[in-house]
Amino acid sequence: MTDGLKMSNVSHMFGKNRVLRDISFDVAPGELVCLLGPSGCGKTTALRLAAGLEKLQVGEISVSDQVVARPGDYVEPEKRGVGMVFQDYALFPHLNVAKNIAFGLRHFTEADRSAAVKRALVQVGMADYENAFPHELSGGQQQRIALARALAPTPRIMLLDEPFSGLDVARRADLRDTTLHVLKNAGIATVMVTHDPQEAMYMADRIIIMNEGEIMQDGTPEELYFEPQNRFVASFFGEVNHFPSVVANGAISTPVGILEDVAYADGTSVDVLVRPEGLHIGKAVNGHDILANVDAVRALGEVNLMHLTLESGFHIHARVPRRFSTLNQKSVAITLDPEMTFVFPMS
Ligand code: ATP
Repeated sequence: MTDGLKMSNVSHMFGKNRVLRDISFDVAPGELVCLLGPSGCGKTTALRLAAGLEKLQVGEISVSDQVVARPGDYVEPEKRGVGMVFQDYALFPHLNVAKNIAFGLRHFTEADRSAAVKRALVQVGMADYENAFPHELSGGQQQRIALARALAPTPRIMLLDEPFSGLDVARRADLRDTTLHVLKNAGIATVMVTHDPQEAMYMADRIIIMNEGEIMQDGTPEELYFEPQNRFVASFFGEVNHFPSVVANGAISTPVGILEDVAYADGTSVDVLVRPEGLHIGKAVNGHDILANVDAVRALGEVNLMHLTLESGFHIHARVPRRFSTLNQKSVAITLDPEMTFVFPMS
């Protein structure tokens, strides 16, 4: 049991289409967990089940140690203590900001309602906008009001579905910080759906990676990036170079170096995944170097991405510091960083 949200062994079908397969996770108060995965993997369905917008078919969902859904037994969405913010703000266009926020507070006395509206507006940094109408606000401001509306009834759980995806980069960064600050301060257990790995890394205490209705891994951003448990997770987090190979004499030979003491039996076909920062670039100094031709260097801001072709014909990408002595070289030497290298059997 947990004070926050707990989903246990949840499966879900739409007709014959099984969209969730035995999903279990929990979220503690003050914790922000991201559901991350490709389009159609079931993230929104998991969120809608937690909210009570979808009837639970299999499993159990609890909020603050109270079961709110099990098959055939169901607490209404508005009685779950759950706040929600979706991508498309969904403010009522004919109501001003205060009335939009007050909408979900009909059971409050008028004085409490007014206080809750003011408090929520202060929380999201929009104290002066009580009388504004949605069409007078920018997208970012509208989304702040949507957040205020979800916060006003002091929910124990917050569910966010791609809440920033309609916004430009600067507004998105701003609103991410406000959202994190408010939710952490209020100690709310939050589940946020996103398909953007960078956003998940930035926001989440824990990330749950999903694919085809299954949880592929549940861990901190660091664990997912540095200790992926399968090829899907390793590839989902940013770019990787793939080197298919076969284990021989307890080692794996790749075009960028040899990995010793591998955990797989000789003859196992494996995929060696190396992140672009796992390929170290230096000046060629002797005949043992693994050489690569520099095809292009792309400036990404903090770092540069080098497009390289190995003598064996492999095209690879390496990430190097912005000011880097070998940037103008035509040919460079490559070494492999085992820490940034992951080996998985071919499935
Ligand atoms: P996206 O990032 O595109 O929103 P998602 O990971 O949130 O995707 P879901 O919206 O949960 O995925 O959808 C999972 C699967 O369930 C998809 O194949 C979708 O077409 C299907 N689906 C979702 N809602 C319904 C519904 N009401 N009726 C039938 N099928 C549905």
